[in-house]
Amino acid sequence: MLEHDVIIIGGGLAGCQAALAIKKENPHLDVAVVAKTHPIRSHSVAAQGGIAASLQNVDSDDSWEAHAFDTVKGSDYLADQDAVEILTKEAPNVIIELEHLGVLFSRLEDGRIAQRAFGGHSHKRACYAADKTGHAILHELVNNLRRNQVQIYDEWYVMQLILEENEAKGVVMYRIEDGHLEVVRAKVVMCATGGYGRVFNTTSNDFACTGDGLAMTAASGLPLEDMEFVQFHPTGLYPIGVLISEAVRGEGAYLRNSEGERFMARYAPNQMELAPRDITSRSITLEIRAGRGIHPDGSAGGPFVHLDLTHMGKETIMSRVPFCWEEAHRLINIDAVIQPMPVRPTAHYCMGGIPVNTEGRVRVDGTSLTEGFFAAGECACVSVHGGNRLGSNSLLECVVYGRIVGEAIAQYVKTRSYPQFDAQSYLTSAEQKIQSLRNQKGSIRIAALRQQFQDCMSEHCGVFRSESVMREGLERLQTLKDEYNNIYLDDQGTCWNTELLEALELKNIMIVGEMILTSALNRQESRGAHSREDFPNRNDSQFLQHTLAYYTDGGIKINYMPVVINRFEPKERKY
Ligand SMILES: Cc1cc2nc3c(=O)[nH]c(=O)nc-3n(C[C@H](O)[C@H](O)[C@H](O)COP(=O)(O)OP(=O)(O)OC[C@H]3O[C@@H](n4cnc5c(N)ncnc54)[C@H](O)[C@@H]3O)c2cc1C
Repeated sequence: MLEHDVIIIGGGLAGCQAALAIKKENPHLDVAVVAKTHPIRSHSVAAQGGIAASLQNVDSDDSWEAHAFDTVKGSDYLADQDAVEILTKEAPNVIIELEHLGVLFSRLEDGRIAQRAFGGHSHKRACYAADKTGHAILHELVNNLRRNQVQIYDEWYVMQLILEENEAKGVVMYRIEDGHLEVVRAKVVMCATGGYGRVFNTTSNDFACTGDGLAMTAASGLPLEDMEFVQFHPTGLYPIGVLISEAVRGEGAYLRNSEGERFMARYAPNQMELAPRDITSRSITLEIRAGRGIHPDGSAGGPFVHLDLTHMGKETIMSRVPFCWEEAHRLINIDAVIQPMPVRPTAHYCMGGIPVNTEGRVRVDGTSLTEGFFAAGECACVSVHGGNRLGSNSLLECVVYGRIVGEAIAQYVKTRSYPQFDAQSYLTSAEQKIQSLRNQKGSIRIAALRQQFQDCMSEHCGVFRSESVMREGLERLQTLKDEYNNIYLDDQGTCWNTELLEALELKNIMIVGEMILTSALNRQESRGAHSREDFPNRNDSQFLQHTLAYYTDGGIKINYMPVVINRFEPKERKY
């Protein structure tokens, strides 16, 4: 059995930042990061547009209070305002720290960090490294892991959290290279496993975003918070869903329908293309439904709208958003300097997650639920995004809360000794699980079942939702869950058995999907990204609350807990 003071699952921005913070507090602690991809290939690396902070480099009247207000309004008042205050107050410090670490931010003429506009933000406050911001930050963090003697287990897949009697004790993990299983005992387990975009059929997310950490947490009896809030990014490149960053609209691109009209004037006359994502995604969906979408041959009535950069000029496009130009060019042969890009909404971000307090400890109503278990980043719900996340606030959450949670862990671990448990029984049950998947004599291919499940989620729990459609979705979903016992593996080997991994991930996708759909069915109102056609209004008297969903043998149980409101009273949300 392996042992570490702290084991962090996930090598993205949140996991790396926490590891470095722990080491900074106490270099003697034995910290390990385990990731199923190489940390450099975590989805954080794909973040494009920016990271928000009221540095006032471009807008001198910006402030952390303005940033906090925008975030809370953007969240449709579901964010916990104590958590938002920490996020926005700490933002400028963290950006300066990152710059001192060596992150190459884009610059203004006078050498200060440049800042651009982003949807839902009232000031220009997104710092960026062209349109490769996540890449620039993650590379520096990962470089520093090695320098600080953090042990890295790359390309190991964590199969299970070891959680007994409300105490996290370690993990069971599988080495992808050769199928070797290990149990790791740890004083603290931190979850930083990112999002779940692959629950849906069209997503901007990496193939690895299968919600493993969320599913493992739910399977061990802990609740997940606000899972119904799924962000659909307005501009996924048609037909694949790959992201065209909001930075493109931040730099001035237009959205147009089949009549060439800038239709956002109808839905958000003040902010136009820079309205928050939930509103922009709904507007695009409504245009498409009204027959003003566009077909690949240019005729009306098709499945996408246009993102038009042609008025911006080659120089701006190539200097500010070169990667987006390249993506469209490489993937669908569109030259955005002279042609509009076809776009439609794509599943992008998970607002909900593992309920944690502002120190990253799993909690419900302020009461801590477990010893030794922490979470941060996209898999956690602290909750700074509430019903809808503003662009550029997620990288910020990862680095601010990654650091705070790391510091909290360094303190917490001082008083903890290594937990006791029967490691052999966990190894045996993991071996059996793998063996039984291998032995299964089914008739369905994993990819086919996954596709059906993703189609079901996209059709029954997409941008717009209603009771009848969701109930039908849940029924379909039950049948698909039963089909899991009917999948088969062609590859019986131990060397890079990606089929086996896909089988394990599919199980997680299914758990997370059911949590999303059930939480969505129970929230009978429209708030943020959760838009009910049968309940079109926000209902504060009943639903200004966080959902808590428990995955139990008898099905999913739903509960609610209060929102922290200490600064901004809920108002109607207009842009
Ligand atoms: C295309 C795209 C562009 C974006 N652009 C922006 C932007 O401009 N600004 C912004 O603020 N946000 C942006 N976001 C959102 C933001 O990038 C993410 O929310 C954030 O990077 C998540 O970081 P994380 O550390 O929580 O998780 P991730 O970076 O997703 O890392 C998760 C880690 O967990 C590991 N892992 C997962 N499951 C397991 C397992 N079972 N076993 C072992 N390891 C596991 C993975 O290997 C990985 O290392 C963007 C997202 C996408 C998809």
